[in-house]
Amino acid sequence: MGKTILIVEDEQAISDILAFNLVRAGYETLSATDGQTGLDMARAYNPDLILLDIMLPVLDGFSLCRRLREEGSAVPVLMLTAREDEADKVLGLELGADDYITKPFSMRELLARVGANIRRAAADEQAPSASRPAAETEFLTAGPLTLSPSGMEVRKRGALLALSQREYDLLLFFMRRPGNVFSREELMRDVWNYEYYGDLRTVDVTIRRLREKIEDSPGNPTLLLTKRGTGYLFAGG
Ligand code: CA
Repeated sequence: MGKTILIVEDEQAISDILAFNLVRAGYETLSATDGQTGLDMARAYNPDLILLDIMLPVLDGFSLCRRLREEGSAVPVLMLTAREDEADKVLGLELGADDYITKPFSMRELLARVGANIRRAAADEQAPSASRPAAETEFLTAGPLTLSPSGMEVRKRGALLALSQREYDLLLFFMRRPGNVFSREELMRDVWNYEYYGDLRTVDVTIRRLREKIEDSPGNPTLLLTKRGTGYLFAGG
């Protein structure tokens, strides 16, 4: 079945070339040229992924993304940024974007990232009944955390945590593999589904956000630990 991509981009030339290439790759596309229309279309059409420019008329991409997350939407959001500004990229991730890509980007790279994000979202939907071993559909526990793969929810001392899709994916990955150290490259490949390396800072930012939610003292973590010079490991169990 065709997946639908919502393109929110005010530069018509970029929007057109994105739509052209996405359609050629087998996707259906919707387009909005300002943020408010983009938000309305996201609500109305429930797309499988949103390509989101940051600088937009009426409502900027950051605000659009934040509003969607506040409304509980888990749609994968890939931000398009024209800037090299690190603060912009981090802010996008903080507000709930799954990933960003810096203009100018190659169409090949963009299609690879769109595909990776859609496959991951689809795998999450199908996983509880299909591809995971029965034992794993029970519960995973570590310290104060309980993760239910079938319910796709995480509780800390019984209280439900509000995790983004990516934070959940990352935590599930670690909780299935306690005590093992993973490099940022490995996490990028196995959790983000990238066959090449994206910006590894994405991993660090997501780890930091996850720690703020699962750790009692995020600056002094006891569950999700940094192995200096190597990567990260999950110590809980
Ligand atoms: Ca723009």
